[in-house]
Amino acid sequence: MDIKQQIIGLPSYQPGKPIEEVKEELGLTRVVKLASNENPYGASKRVATAISESATNTTIYPDGYSAKLREKVALKLGVTPEQLIFGNGSDEVIQFLCRALLSPGTNTVTADPTFSQYKLNATIEGAEVREVPSVDGVHHLEAMLQAIDEMTRIVWVCNPNNPSGTYVNEDTFKRFLDQVPPHVLVVSDEAYYEYVTAKDYPNTIPLIKKYPNLMVLRTFSKAYGLAALRIGYGVGSAGFVSSIDPVRPPFNNNSFAHCAAIAALEDQAFIDECVEKNTEGMKQFEQFCQKHELYYYPSQTNFILIDFKQSGDRVFDFLLRKGFIVRSGKALGFPTCVRITIGKKEDNEELFTYLEELVNHSTVQ
Ligand SMILES: *Cc1c(COP(=O)(O)O)cnc(C)c1O
Repeated sequence: MDIKQQIIGLPSYQPGKPIEEVKEELGLTRVVKLASNENPYGASKRVATAISESATNTTIYPDGYSAKLREKVALKLGVTPEQLIFGNGSDEVIQFLCRALLSPGTNTVTADPTFSQYKLNATIEGAEVREVPSVDGVHHLEAMLQAIDEMTRIVWVCNPNNPSGTYVNEDTFKRFLDQVPPHVLVVSDEAYYEYVTAKDYPNTIPLIKKYPNLMVLRTFSKAYGLAALRIGYGVGSAGFVSSIDPVRPPFNNNSFAHCAAIAALEDQAFIDECVEKNTEGMKQFEQFCQKHELYYYPSQTNFILIDFKQSGDRVFDFLLRKGFIVRSGKALGFPTCVRITIGKKEDNEELFTYLEELVNHSTVQ
């Protein structure tokens, strides 16, 4: 069969290893997954209740317009319902944007390293991907501007950036928006928005009024703890959102995701608590790195990228055998680093004992 040329040889997404698989392979009874930036404290208790209550609602197609959730999110963000587009995870919104805007002959600008899905989806659409090297893990927006030309359709700002955890501040981002030509869509992917504590982090949603070429992506997968349900969304100008909506499949979010997201939004106290614990956990990691003179990228997220000055794959293997699944930086563009999701206090402490073992020996056992 004649598959699109650009798909031939593309690797499939390599997710973090599943817990059960690791237990079985290594004969471990307890495995902690700190690989995919999921919320270690789960989700609000209201979520399970809401899902149980709708457990028998499996026969009727979900509301394709996500009306109830849409209203709730619009109210929370201070936007109109027409400004929202829901995806099966924000990953799917990335796919919509690529599908709607990119084709052979066009190009898209990303940072490097950054979240892999921008490049993947753009490549599938046959667009050229212009990857602009970051500086100390931070997007080089000036250089990204230089990479834009009349065939550029999308510029991706992953803020905070996955996998580095670093962020672009409000002044820098506004200056960037002022200079991006109006025919180019600027995507601010804010998957870790809830975790950010920096005072100068951009408040992007009010900027959409002034910049109709701005789209903000948020997700329920990270702080809200709903990764299994696949729900995220984009916020943009109403005109742009309605023009790309035809690429969205009719029932792309399921009913359980809808009711879970609504329940999750009603429990802001849970999010505040998780964010507070995350900030404490981040401090634990930073202190550990400082004590052992390990370079880490300052993070505004629920993960930290640490440079072990040795193969990230080896560090990954070492930790896996101790029952901790982390993410090697190798496939993420940081070959000597490991990306670790901030876990629960006790899990972090246990992890540190293994990391100490690792850094106190020049070679991994
Ligand atoms: C996790 C993540 C997403 C995707 O999350 P979904 O589960 O698809 O909503 C998007 N962008 C970044 C940067 C992420 O880290």
